[in-house]
Amino acid sequence: MSGEAAFNYDALLERLYSKIPRKQARHERFEVPPVKVEHIGNRTFVRNFREIAGVLRREPRLLMRYLLKELAAAGSYDEDSGILMINIRVSAASLNRLIQLFVKQYVICPTCGRPDTRLERRGKAWILVCEACGAETPVKPF
Ligand SMILES: [Zn+2]
Repeated sequence: MSGEAAFNYDALLERLYSKIPRKQARHERFEVPPVKVEHIGNRTFVRNFREIAGVLRREPRLLMRYLLKELAAAGSYDEDSGILMINIRVSAASLNRLIQLFVKQYVICPTCGRPDTRLERRGKAWILVCEACGAETPVKPF
């Protein structure tokens, strides 16, 4: 192999590697913002609900459905303000715990542990599709 051929090979490898996306630092520790709640009477308002859903890359209405089902409560999401209203009094700690459970089941890929996933509905089945490693994991619909 001539020197020139070796050089070209290195350049080719370098070009290939540069196309591989870099590992993202946020994989090391996936931070979900804590809920900002306000209680008015017997109702609970989650002021940063849209922000939380955004970090998880999930539809706010999907996350709402999960929380309301787990709390056996009614509520509504206001698109304009991004605030979730729940018809019962729930502590911030309880909400944070539920959101962590949601993340564990419906966001984090069980194969590689990364949060770069999307939820796909195929008929009645829900599949957690990982964009990092390609794993497809069936999850419990709700
Ligand atoms: Zn994965």
